[in-house]
Amino acid sequence: MLAIAVTPKQPGSAQQIELPIPQASAGLALMRVLEVGIDGTDTEINNGEYGEPPPGSPVLVIGHEALSVVEATGAGVSGFSQGDLVVSTVRRPDTCPNCQAGESDMCLFGNYTERGIKGAHGYMGQYYSEKPEFMVKIPPALRPFAVLLEPLSIVEKATYQAWKIQERMLWQPKRAAVLGAGSIGILATILLRLRGLEVHVYAKTPTDSLQATVIGQLGAGYQSVGDHPITGIKEEVGQVDYILEATGNSTVAFQAMAELGTNGVLCLTGVSGGNSRIEIPADVINLQMVLGNRVAFGSVNANRRYFELGVQHFQQAEQRWPGIFERLITRRVPFADFKTALDRRPEDIKTLLTIAAE
Ligand code: BGC
Ligand code: ZN
Repeated sequence: MLAIAVTPKQPGSAQQIELPIPQASAGLALMRVLEVGIDGTDTEINNGEYGEPPPGSPVLVIGHEALSVVEATGAGVSGFSQGDLVVSTVRRPDTCPNCQAGESDMCLFGNYTERGIKGAHGYMGQYYSEKPEFMVKIPPALRPFAVLLEPLSIVEKATYQAWKIQERMLWQPKRAAVLGAGSIGILATILLRLRGLEVHVYAKTPTDSLQATVIGQLGAGYQSVGDHPITGIKEEVGQVDYILEATGNSTVAFQAMAELGTNGVLCLTGVSGGNSRIEIPADVINLQMVLGNRVAFGSVNANRRYFELGVQHFQQAEQRWPGIFERLITRRVPFADFKTALDRRPEDIKTLLTIAAE
């Protein structure tokens, strides 16, 4: 079978390689991959900034957002049959208590692996094999956009965690700000609108971009940071109860702390691999955090619970805004042109690599 692999730490090393087709041996299902979504992590891995091959392998098969179809099931696999649509989770547990409790997204020891990212091959190939406990079944009606379930799961976790944290008091959030209008920012806007919040998105893309149009369709506000800087949010929209940072820019993360309203919560989701240093108004931020009981927290990855929530919200959002998820898929690239798919263009929301048509 064909797969796309990188040599980690070597910039631009993505290449097509040949691997044996995995077996549907006992306890495993064989999955045929239909399409794979590409995100910032894949680009960073291909730029040599991130990523780790499986033990003993010089290369890493990338791809962690895949829609696949069950091709065969090994002995002892129940709950799945040939032809089922599946999206698999990304992280695999180590021996820590959190991983053992089914929450490897909260791993304590850090010896987890992540398929396509850290120590385990990913899904950007024609086949992969998987244990049923990491496979999430997709209702056929969601086929056109189910590949977005992995990024949606990231946002499901962030939102769930924020609301869980806020159980610390009486909290009736009304207004949210989302920083960044990539797929994470837009998917977050969808979930927050479903929860009935007023949402303001701040991002770099111009106000006549597809991103801004989609955000408008969701009934959220869109501001381009060129003339509406992050540092003016509080003044512009008033008390913000929840901020989701989805730009991956650490400066924005610190600026956001100063924009949070009283009793507000800020969730950071960007993985910043660099080493940048900035000056911040430390006294002001510290004072506001204390006097306003504010919280800032980080959120990474997603366990199965969040994929399952994502399946429900796909259905709810699609009913309210028909076709919304398909609008986020801005490029479909044939398998052989994987290099083009890994380039990020400003007008991209989600790029898919098509591995098989059906
Ligand atoms: C993936 C997560 C992963 C994170 C850090 C993200 O792109 O969606 O599953 O945990 O990168 O490696
Ligand atoms: Zn762990």
